[in-house]
Amino acid sequence: MNAGLQALVREAQATGRIAGLPGQHFIDGRFVPAARGGRMETFDPGTGEAFVTFAAGDADDVDAAVRAAQAALRGPWRSMAPGDRGRLLWRIAERIRASADRLAVAETLDSGKRLSEALGDVAGAAATFEYYAGACDKHQGDSIPLGTGHLAFTLNEPAGVTAHIIPWNYPLSTAARGIAPALAAGCTVVAKPAEQTPLTALMLAELCAQAGLPAGVCNVVTGTGAAAGAALVRHPGVQHISFTGSVATGIDVMQAAAPHVTRLVLELGGKSPVVVLADCDIEQALEGVLGAIYENAGQICSAGSRLVIAREIHEVFVDRLQARAEAMQLGHGLRDCGMGPVSSLAHRDRIAGYVSRARARGVRVRTGGQACADPQTGRGWFYPPTILDDLPALDEAVQDEIFGPVLAVQLFDDLAQAVALANGTAYGLVAGVYTRSFAAAHQLARDIDAGQIFINEYFAGSIAVPFGGNRRSGFGREKGMEALRSYSRIKSVAARIS
Ligand code: NAD
Repeated sequence: MNAGLQALVREAQATGRIAGLPGQHFIDGRFVPAARGGRMETFDPGTGEAFVTFAAGDADDVDAAVRAAQAALRGPWRSMAPGDRGRLLWRIAERIRASADRLAVAETLDSGKRLSEALGDVAGAAATFEYYAGACDKHQGDSIPLGTGHLAFTLNEPAGVTAHIIPWNYPLSTAARGIAPALAAGCTVVAKPAEQTPLTALMLAELCAQAGLPAGVCNVVTGTGAAAGAALVRHPGVQHISFTGSVATGIDVMQAAAPHVTRLVLELGGKSPVVVLADCDIEQALEGVLGAIYENAGQICSAGSRLVIAREIHEVFVDRLQARAEAMQLGHGLRDCGMGPVSSLAHRDRIAGYVSRARARGVRVRTGGQACADPQTGRGWFYPPTILDDLPALDEAVQDEIFGPVLAVQLFDDLAQAVALANGTAYGLVAGVYTRSFAAAHQLARDIDAGQIFINEYFAGSIAVPFGGNRRSGFGREKGMEALRSYSRIKSVAARIS
């Protein structure tokens, strides 16, 4: 840990916060208070204490932000050459890297995640801006052969004002994942971070301005989903919505988008299977399954929350998994233990409810299953790594996204059954496969209904690889060049020339 980061961690541990955290909306290039003066608190899940207040926005603030974004679309941003846009995005990435320590400590305090995970998220956010910086001047259209008498080609126009609704589990990286390609495509942005984690989106908007992004191009309005989020997605000035969150809210967002026929991408939940075949590299699979479910305390849309395992290795594999889970230390994210807290008391109660109902049904709880606190301080909202073993396919703990460190184990006897179990929920976000068999891996990749398949490395990939779900996990794709296309509108031009 470098000296600057150490100093910030000490400050946060001593005072519960760090100096200079943002607490107002960022609209039209500057921080502004909520029009009606509303304020809310954000909590440190690692202590359960509120540590900073921020603007509680509503429809008036959203309207001001959308107007700023509309005006910016007509300003110098419109005529900036794609190469210059790319250089600007690169400078934003440099600012993110230069502010990595502050961003990471703020993210840890706000979301509860371990400091090393937060640092990884910051590096990922910078890499996202770098990727799209390079893409700005390569986002070209087609020329369409109609014969010598005609000329036809397509233009990629910016979609317009884009709304970004961001969840609390990956506040900075989800913001960057939407904002960077939107800017690369020439759009303007109004982002609404989750009310549990407003800080890093605001910090990102300020860094964008410091890097030279014209005023109004990137705006952030904070507040609740009901007051600020709902006003943003139904605003007639918004041309594209990127929503990341729960299925229930995603359905509301679709309905709010319908009256203005606003296009949207929905990144919703998941109940993703990790399929482990008997011939796998056991060490590799153990590492993969552990990270898939316990990273970020299981609060990952693409968490591998179901272990679908060959019966012949089940007992020995789950024994070893249990030992590894029990060895994980819980603690405040700033101490960077094995696992941090979950995001809120209400969320912890929800997780605990799933496990106690499973216990009452007679499910074997191999480990965990009891809400707890930071063992060093007795504070905070923690839930230990938990394993529910040998569940039937229709069990609630198999079907529902628990969004916590709770692994549901299912057993199969052959590949066809593995596929049936893997596809046996309403979700289809991602899936993991562990096997040494090239053919089996690719049969599973072919037959599992999910937007992304990881083979022998869960979470494999990078910002360059498209990401998104099927069925109730949503539609549309973020990341990769797909995201750039999604923030663009194609205009076809056809002319008779002779
Ligand atoms: P949520 O749906 O409650 O909230 C997400 C965001 O939507 C927040 O910013 C919230 O303020 C806002 N919101 C709430 N009501 C709204 C409304 N009516 N109109 C507009 N915005 C509104 O979800 P959450 O509990 O914060 O996040 C957890 C969920 O998000 C999980 O289901 C998880 O799987 C999903 N998620 C998906 C991805 C993905 O990429 N697929 C990534 C992260 C999280």
